[in-house]
Amino acid sequence: MNNRKTTVNRSKRLAAKEKKIRILAGAALAVIAVVITVVLLTCGKKEEYRSLYGLPDYVTEDYITVNQYSRPKIPLEQVNAIVIHYVGNPGTSAQANRNYFDGLSKQSGEGATYASSNFIVGLNGEVLAVVPISEIAYASNNRNSDTISIETCHPDETGKFTDETYTSLTELTAWLCVRYGLSSEDVIRHYDVTGKLCPLYFVEHEDAWTAFKADVQTAIDRLTAQAQTTQAED
Ligand SMILES: [Zn+2]
Repeated sequence: MNNRKTTVNRSKRLAAKEKKIRILAGAALAVIAVVITVVLLTCGKKEEYRSLYGLPDYVTEDYITVNQYSRPKIPLEQVNAIVIHYVGNPGTSAQANRNYFDGLSKQSGEGATYASSNFIVGLNGEVLAVVPISEIAYASNNRNSDTISIETCHPDETGKFTDETYTSLTELTAWLCVRYGLSSEDVIRHYDVTGKLCPLYFVEHEDAWTAFKADVQTAIDRLTAQAQTTQAED
């Protein structure tokens, strides 16, 4: 009787052990499958889209129609500065401003508006490339021919940028500085070109402008260090 009981208990224990092993093996297989899927998806994503101009992946390229009023297709032969603007139209999105520039192509006759920008940073930090960096945009008057322009959206009349907008603007400006071998000293306001109150908040708050340029320099230094690490790993 006792013996039989022991045997039954042992086989029960063996069954429980096997069950445990099967569960563990199943879990291990599931983990491996998830890891493989993530690796495949990550690699696939990198292959998926590559900018013609080597722009960072947070930039959406949505170029406007070639036309004499906003995208004259004149080659931009040198870049000596990055010019920061604000759209001056509170609450409008990057897409709406892009479409406005695109719509200028439908003008004709006298009193036409000539306006555009290479980039637009939106209220949620989204970044649109609307005139290629190889072409001049109509944004910065007599500096159109040797600068890249960035238009920036803002929620209200003060012209102050949201945190999301500010972060993207800082990153994009820094990336452009690295690309063209510039420093934060080469980042200027539309105001510095013509005296126009643009970007308004950075004209009325000199301290905010100084802080922005310092943030750009920090981002430039970080991107430069990252590029050096990547090179060292190649
Ligand atoms: Zn401006």
